[in-house]
Amino acid sequence: MRLEEAEALLKGKKPGQQNLEAAHLRLSIMETSNNERSQINALKNFISLSETVSQSLDKSRVQVIRTLYELDEIQEENTNLKKVTRLQAEKLNLNKQRNYLFGALAGLLFLLSISLFLLYAKRIRYQRRLEKLATTDSLTRFFNRGKTLELLDAQINNLAQNGHDFCVAMLDIDFFKMINDKYGHKVGDDALRLFSKVAREHFTDNVLMGRLGGEEFLFIFDKISLKEALASLDVFRCSLKETSQDELSNEIKLTFSAGLMAISTSQSVTSVLENTDIALYQAKESGRGKTVIFNCL
Ligand code: GH3
Ligand code: MG
Ligand code: MG
Repeated sequence: MRLEEAEALLKGKKPGQQNLEAAHLRLSIMETSNNERSQINALKNFISLSETVSQSLDKSRVQVIRTLYELDEIQEENTNLKKVTRLQAEKLNLNKQRNYLFGALAGLLFLLSISLFLLYAKRIRYQRRLEKLATTDSLTRFFNRGKTLELLDAQINNLAQNGHDFCVAMLDIDFFKMINDKYGHKVGDDALRLFSKVAREHFTDNVLMGRLGGEEFLFIFDKISLKEALASLDVFRCSLKETSQDELSNEIKLTFSAGLMAISTSQSVTSVLENTDIALYQAKESGRGKTVIFNCL
């Protein structure tokens, strides 16, 4: 009965531990029998089966080891991948921080440059205001004496370099002392302010106007002919006369005398001042309220 069981186990199954046990069982059973042939066959079968089983066991072991090795490799690869991922995350984080820093730095630089620009603009404005204060006459807002002579000098240099001729007029308000004496110094100041206001309304930007001192002025007519300058001064005089009556007093007819000259050859500032003053003197001497053109002959 046990032999039959062993035979059944051995039939049609792959060699394995159970088969081996069955073969061993058959061998033990056969050893008890007297059939030598069967004993030898059972022994052969047992040896062949045990060899197959041991080979199959070796193969399995190799397979297991290989699987373990592969698992190990996969684990190592996983660890490496995790490391790479962590490093990339750190790098990403670092990049984010760097970008944030760059952004903040760029913002700061932008603010700094805006502040510097505003400071620079303010400084330029301040400088211009200072320059204007230093070159402007406070009462009339004409150029002051220093700036007027500087402009005349520049105009003379321009003539020497570019042959750019121009006209100069020296103006002096008539009987100004009388206005001061009769109406007071304040009205005198108002008369000076009115003189400059009417002049600014009348003349274009081509006429540079400066106060030499007191009630004496120097006008530079750039790119304007002697004839045009003369005519323009006459219109200005009429306008001043009318406006002073309207705005100061009906009794005040503000007029001025002027000495005018064309500058077409290079000469000194002093010479221009002297010559226009000579013509102005002639205008005063010949009845005031007129313009005399300087005649060098
Ligand atoms: P003329 O027709 O010959 O030029 O006579 P004038 O009276 O205008 O000339 P004069 O030189 O005798 O007098 C000029 C006066 O101008 C004297 C001075 O007190 C006055 N004056 C000068 N500067 C100012 C000023 O800024 N304000 C006032 N109110 N008067 C001034
Ligand atoms: Mg005067
Ligand atoms: Mg005078």
